Amino acid sequence: TQIPIRRALVSVWDKTGLEDFAKGLVDAGVMIVSTGSTAKKIAAAGLPVTPVEDVTGFPECFEGRVKTLHPRIHGGILADRRKPEHVAQMKELEIEPIDLVVCNLYPFEETVASGADFDDCVEQIDIGGPSMVRAAAKNHPSVAVVTSPELYSHVLEAVQDGGFDLRERRILAAAAFAHTAEYDAAVATWFDDQLTRFAMESMGVDPSELAESEDSPLPEWVELSGDRVMSLRYGENPHQAAALYVDMDDLVARADEGEDCFCPECAPHPDLDDLEACDAAGSDPEAAPAPGIANAIQLHGKEMSYNNYTDGDAAIRAAYDHQEPCVAIIKHANPCGIAVADDVAEAHRKAHACDPVSAFGGVIAVNRPVTVELAEQIAPIFTEVVLAPAYEPGAVKALAAKKNVRVLRVTPPDRGALEVRQISGGYLAQQRDDVAEKGDTREGWTKVCGPDVDEATLADLEFAWQTIRATKSNAILLAKDGATVGIGMGQVNRVDSCKLAVERANTLGGRETGDAAADNQADVAGGARAEDIAVAAPPERSRGAVAASDAFFPFADGPQILIDAGVKAIVQPGGSIRDQETIDVCEKAGVTMFTTGVRHFFH
Ligand code: 5GP
Repeated sequence: TQIPIRRALVSVWDKTGLEDFAKGLVDAGVMIVSTGSTAKKIAAAGLPVTPVEDVTGFPECFEGRVKTLHPRIHGGILADRRKPEHVAQMKELEIEPIDLVVCNLYPFEETVASGADFDDCVEQIDIGGPSMVRAAAKNHPSVAVVTSPELYSHVLEAVQDGGFDLRERRILAAAAFAHTAEYDAAVATWFDDQLTRFAMESMGVDPSELAESEDSPLPEWVELSGDRVMSLRYGENPHQAAALYVDMDDLVARADEGEDCFCPECAPHPDLDDLEACDAAGSDPEAAPAPGIANAIQLHGKEMSYNNYTDGDAAIRAAYDHQEPCVAIIKHANPCGIAVADDVAEAHRKAHACDPVSAFGGVIAVNRPVTVELAEQIAPIFTEVVLAPAYEPGAVKALAAKKNVRVLRVTPPDRGALEVRQISGGYLAQQRDDVAEKGDTREGWTKVCGPDVDEATLADLEFAWQTIRATKSNAILLAKDGATVGIGMGQVNRVDSCKLAVERANTLGGRETGDAAADNQADVAGGARAEDIAVAAPPERSRGAVAASDAFFPFADGPQILIDAGVKAIVQPGGSIRDQETIDVCEKAGVTMFTTGVRHFFH
């Protein structure tokens, strides 16, 4: 399945290592086609290079917006060499095949971070680059694609060895799609922020003034409560006024019981501009705040928003459902990935690998102090909020490499605490749903069918069960090796949640969870690393995973989907009048099922 590399298209913004790489290609007899300044740099090194204009017969135009967007280029990348009719059409249209695309993209995030204005940021949205990268990744049976200079030496080795084989080209394609997905996610997130800004401006509010103002305009209702309040920039959406309240009665009761006074005035909030003081406050044992996210101490970053508070609350709830070191990555109150491990950095690598695309812009909660290793691992990934009970010295500083990331020190809420939710005309109150029922651990379960399972499978089932509570109903969650690998959440029927969990397990993440460390670093580096290519396998993460369901299966159709996807064991509450049908399909497939007798809806 190896395909020799004869003609390469090289178009790179980041020109690190370009000359040596081009020389290696030329020495191996590869013909290089290249764009504007990339071609210039290769030619300046005294190497032969064909400018892209000579291939297209068209000048680079519109200030570089159109360089490679031409059938002579895209036909050369997209024609499927396995199909004789494509090969014949290439000849007929005089299109030469391109066997390798080497491309990295305009630095969009760096441009945004530099404070550039709207039009300049838009100009730095690469169009031709992602098109070529995606085209080459789609046509991986014929073409190899590389987006990271870190891979150049590996590419040169492959060129000399007769080209990449199909498995390697698939892995490169997965990395390329992950790279363009992250790029587009950055553009979409920025664009969304800009819409908010435009909306505020059209309401006559200057967003920068509001952010800095100490006394931003509060609606009257904010003052109605005796509890301490803080205004927020806006609510769930920019047209909604909003404020944060803390439970002063609770803080006073704690102080009466001899604890330090934790009210917002007495709580030790360091000056956010003093990074040394913030770093020190992260590890000071005296400085732990009162329980709950409303009392958290901010150590770095932008002001907390309404959505940051709700997602942050969901994140600490998820991380503290586990006894082992745990990392939960949350978006819109649902997990992108949750994992446990011996240390928090490893837990984060596994959690991130579940769905690296969604983890972009996520809220991360940790149930142990954040180590410097974990902080350095999170820092390159765009993250909205990090929450933890403490930070080792140096960890806050490492996270502060990103200006905006909000770093919070938080104490988890008390077990069984009261939860209040407003409904129109009144309130609902309930005790918090903690993972503390008899059926929440294996000792309280009943095995209803299938072979006995080993300790590792039982541990994964227990992890899956204790994690499902953090997922909006209807929820189905697949887990392997102490990490979520596929989550189907928020569906209005359980069978769709099963389909979603399986589909997400087998399309997101892109690599095996066992290779989570390399996986994470590959994402951070913006592409697969040489080592990944040697070790990673195409993903089918549902096979051999275990599954949990937050409530019983009303029909056997959901479990059947899980069985067809290779799930080996399932844990669920049980209690449906059709339980026997569900048990029968599992029994027939040799899949083990446990029932818990307890359910965990989350709405
Ligand atoms: P160069 O520095 O060689 O002039 O340009 C390289 C950059 O151009 C790469 O980052 C690549 O992604 C981008 N690029 C390649 N083709 C096109 C195109 O047709 N349109 C746009 N907007 N960018 C392109």
